Amino acid sequence: MAAVPKVGFVSLGCPKALVDSEGIVTRLRAEGYAISPSYDGADLVVVNTCGFIESAMQESLDAIGEALEENGRVIVTGCLGAKGDVVRRTHPKVLAVTGPHALEQVMTAVHEHLPKPHEPFADLVPPQGIKLTPRHYAYLKISEGCNHRCTFCIIPSLRGDLASRPIGEVMREAENLVKGGVKELLVISQDTSAYGVDLKYGTGFWGGRPLKARMGDLATALGNWACGCGSTTCIPIRRWTRSSAYGGWENPPLHRRSVSACEPADPEADETSCERRGQSRAHPRLAQNLSDITIRSTFIAGFPGETEDEFRELLDFLEEAELDRVGCFSYSPVPGAKANEFPGALPDEVREERRGRLMRLQEKISARRLKRRLGKTIKVLVDESKAGRAVGRSAADAPEIDGVVHIEDGAKLKPGDWAQVKVTRSDAHDLWSELDVQQRGRQRSTYGTA
Ligand code: SF4
Repeated sequence: MAAVPKVGFVSLGCPKALVDSEGIVTRLRAEGYAISPSYDGADLVVVNTCGFIESAMQESLDAIGEALEENGRVIVTGCLGAKGDVVRRTHPKVLAVTGPHALEQVMTAVHEHLPKPHEPFADLVPPQGIKLTPRHYAYLKISEGCNHRCTFCIIPSLRGDLASRPIGEVMREAENLVKGGVKELLVISQDTSAYGVDLKYGTGFWGGRPLKARMGDLATALGNWACGCGSTTCIPIRRWTRSSAYGGWENPPLHRRSVSACEPADPEADETSCERRGQSRAHPRLAQNLSDITIRSTFIAGFPGETEDEFRELLDFLEEAELDRVGCFSYSPVPGAKANEFPGALPDEVREERRGRLMRLQEKISARRLKRRLGKTIKVLVDESKAGRAVGRSAADAPEIDGVVHIEDGAKLKPGDWAQVKVTRSDAHDLWSELDVQQRGRQRSTYGTA
């Protein structure tokens, strides 16, 4: 029997890139290729790259170099591939280069350099595809690209204008994921709140029901649908859905108000801000109106021309808004970004110093906010269990971005279990907890692995 062709895979970058990787790996498996866990066991290697900021570009170029050195036959895809000929100039020996979201082009390149096996094993591929995330959570990409033109960002030139997936297709994928054991769906895209704008919010069908391609309708459909097990208590314990537009929510209840409050700002209003990115002033309002949602946002420190007074205004804003999760980049002059032409570029040290100051302030705010959860009983989805304790996340915590909840007496819990825990300790990022007294001592099945 002919040997099964093996492909190695390196996936870098954001969750959007990870979803592209999952699509490619799924297709490779569907066509009968094996995925090799090592360079030397692979017949060729696909590297999915990131090109967002300079450090990410360098990491991607290094990864390509390593794959070339260890294996020699490399296909490059992802955002860095869309940046002119930077990949080919640095690594002329790569077999092929594509941009992001280019499944067909990647597969064409793979077929050219490593013909697919005669007998495809399509039947062996589960309907939810091959996921690169743990079994209990998955990313659900609802659109690609972005209609905004933030001057610091080159994503629209890499990924194009907004292109939303039809809502029926999104819901069918969500359904397959949940049937495959996923308990947490992470709704992602470049501009989640703009979902459906390009489709003119067109109607699609799911389960025979009409649904509009609109973020609010999608959120309602994801929040209200029953898994089909027949139990009336099923929905609250089975799934979480979280969105990059407005943090996490548990279903039910689902806050429609939070959805409408985050829908795209008037495009004209963007013109008043030099970064051309609106909406940020909505956060304090949201935080005040909806005490039980979690808000995450990311900021840039040291944008060209930013004065000390303007930066302090940002710090004041953070003090006022008390956002739960905050990330901060120092301004990075990504080649091709319009903001690089602006006067008043700040020295690296100033940008870094401001980033550090912002993060130190946010640590204090975060510690303050997490302290408010002491003594509360919260629901946690377990990610890992080791050395007599478990680590999970509440509805407020996105994987690999936010803090975690340590469960000190969670020895019996397994990844994918739900647990009710009482918060006993906190720091600036994480919570510590013990199993809720009413549940302690019950059998593990109580926590709902089903
Ligand atoms: S909203 Fe702005 S920062 Fe985000 S992808 Fe679109 S252009 Fe880039």
